[in-house]
Amino acid sequence: MLITAGPTYEPVDPVRFIGNRSSGRMGIALADKAAGLGAEVELILGPSKLLPAHPNVRLVSVQTAQEMYNAATSRFPNVDVAILSAAVSDYRPAHAADQKIKKKNDHLTIELVKNPDIAATLGQIKHPGQLLVGFALETNDEEWNAREKLQKKNFDFIVLNSLKDAGAGFDFRTNKISIISKDNKIKKFELKTKEDVAADILQEVMVLLAQQV
Ligand code: C5P
Repeated sequence: MLITAGPTYEPVDPVRFIGNRSSGRMGIALADKAAGLGAEVELILGPSKLLPAHPNVRLVSVQTAQEMYNAATSRFPNVDVAILSAAVSDYRPAHAADQKIKKKNDHLTIELVKNPDIAATLGQIKHPGQLLVGFALETNDEEWNAREKLQKKNFDFIVLNSLKDAGAGFDFRTNKISIISKDNKIKKFELKTKEDVAADILQEVMVLLAQQV
């Protein structure tokens, strides 16, 4: 099983970056729980203060979206399941400066270019028998946006968490999710610890894997 987790950091200059508030906690919980269930797990983790606890989780540490993309696409052909919980930066600075950028004018413009979409790429190269699971963190029109992502990226199911729910989202120890499947069914779960949420997600994975046999 392949799991992506955490944020990505996109360098602006040698000391600055563009990042986001992802802690990596949800993906790390998934990796630990899956390893506990006996899965062989590779965790591709962006910069995070947290680390997996289970000794059987193989950790691949990356910084940027491009590094995460390279690590994920090269490993994907060898896995049965990929769960993409990373909060990948959509854009990166077009040029990272070699030297620290000096304070000069009142305005500074940094040109951004699009990063590759790991999920969409894996969705395109996915072959029968492989499961691809995505996440959606939305602030508005949650279900509609999640359903669109599920289709566009060819996920087998998508885990939706909303920033509107108290106790859910970045850096909380708890999460409140809904799972939307390809046949458009939605399962809504209570607020739980991320460890228990990980168990619910892996249960859904196991049901789908059992259906393929
Ligand atoms: O489009 P959006 O970023 O909201 O999609 C979220 C899903 O796509 C998550 O599963 C996330 O890990 C994945 N993703 C990715 N590579 C990107 C952007 C998002 O794998 N560049």
